[in-house]
Amino acid sequence: MAITAIKGFNDILPSESGRWQHIEQAARSVFERNGFSEIRVPIMEKTELFCRSIGDATDIVEKEMYSFIDKGENAITLRPEGTAGVMRAFIEHKLYAQDPVAKLYYLGPMFRYERPQKGRYRQFHQIGAEITGVHDPLADAQVLNMLVQFFRDIGLDEPQLQVNSLGCPDCRPAYRTTLMAFLEQRADALCEDCRRRMTTNPLRALDCKVPGCIAATAGAPSMLDNLCTGCSDHFASVRQYLDTTATPYSINPRMVRGLDYYTRTTFEMVTGLLGSQSAVAAGGRYDGLISQLGGPAIPGIGFAMGVERVALLLGDKDFARQPDLFIATLGAGERGFAFRLLHDLLQLGLRVEMDYEGKSLKSQMRRADRLGARYSVVIGENEVSSGRAHFKRMADGEQVEVMLIAEHIKQTL
Ligand code: ATP
Ligand code: MG
Repeated sequence: MAITAIKGFNDILPSESGRWQHIEQAARSVFERNGFSEIRVPIMEKTELFCRSIGDATDIVEKEMYSFIDKGENAITLRPEGTAGVMRAFIEHKLYAQDPVAKLYYLGPMFRYERPQKGRYRQFHQIGAEITGVHDPLADAQVLNMLVQFFRDIGLDEPQLQVNSLGCPDCRPAYRTTLMAFLEQRADALCEDCRRRMTTNPLRALDCKVPGCIAATAGAPSMLDNLCTGCSDHFASVRQYLDTTATPYSINPRMVRGLDYYTRTTFEMVTGLLGSQSAVAAGGRYDGLISQLGGPAIPGIGFAMGVERVALLLGDKDFARQPDLFIATLGAGERGFAFRLLHDLLQLGLRVEMDYEGKSLKSQMRRADRLGARYSVVIGENEVSSGRAHFKRMADGEQVEVMLIAEHIKQTL
């Protein structure tokens, strides 16, 4: 029996990879316009890194990590997200030494042991960006604008931006206590997970998708009503900057992120088109993370988007690149000539295909059609001796005679 892939791990086939490249190129382009540089970090880290950053009482650390002990008895985890590793590298290589302001982006596979379904896999891909070293809400607004711009650039008006503030170590503990008291009164109506987390991570109850929990927490006190002055001013400025740039957003006071390191601004790009996999991108500010990981007290803010979910939103649009020219040959005698022409045109940057196996002219033309070639040309003895041939525009059959010299052909096509 043939061996299949691991459950929840996907192949990205040639029919889809054009869409993926389109997404990746659009992201690189908007990031680089905004002054971000790529950072590439390992896909495995010491397990401790994720426990310490993401938090022990989160879904990710509690049940979703791909952790194992390697042959040297080290506790290793396949990265479930990108920020922890990027900040580990930021600290390890002292990227803050000259300037604490760093703008970094990354892309690559992430791993979580989740129940596979549409838009939720065990290996999935994220594209993320981070700004370190800026306390000012301008950083928040730039990151948000960049995210909104990305979705515009790839031609989607879904998903939509939702923002919230989760406060800081000054104001969140008091809110947490208030919320815990509220939840305790309704404990019977909460799901098992929320009851268990009521004391370890009560904010998660606001984010729970179980209908009973949604109903029970409908009138819960809101973090936004309990922010300290610093956090409340910060949030007001973020909103002002978004208004200044006419960036559309809504406030979702129930948004809680599944990672403990977030402070102040948190946000999601949300769609109604992917069922319960509604978050296409998500992020927030993490002012305490870098020092928590042993680095200096430098703030940060960033996001990650799920490439599979973006690809699903883009739908079946075809991003395959068609050849500029298909060269057909009449007989074996012309194949050497055609191959040289192909080679010269490739050197000039054109996309060119030819027949590899001496098929009939009819089957060669069928292949030209299937590949979606813009032009085709048939090379026979006459063309070789005269050094000229008719190039056919496939869309309308219009023919034009051109000298068989690569530069001429390039100018004509
Ligand atoms: P969800 O609420 O859907 O579980 P999350 O809060 O766990 O998402 P983050 O950890 O913030 O998500 O990751 C950011 C983005 O990565 C998500 O918005 C989503 O697009 C994508 N993502 C997260 N987990 C998966 C997964 N298992 N499969 C595919 N994409 C994922
Ligand atoms: Mg999740």
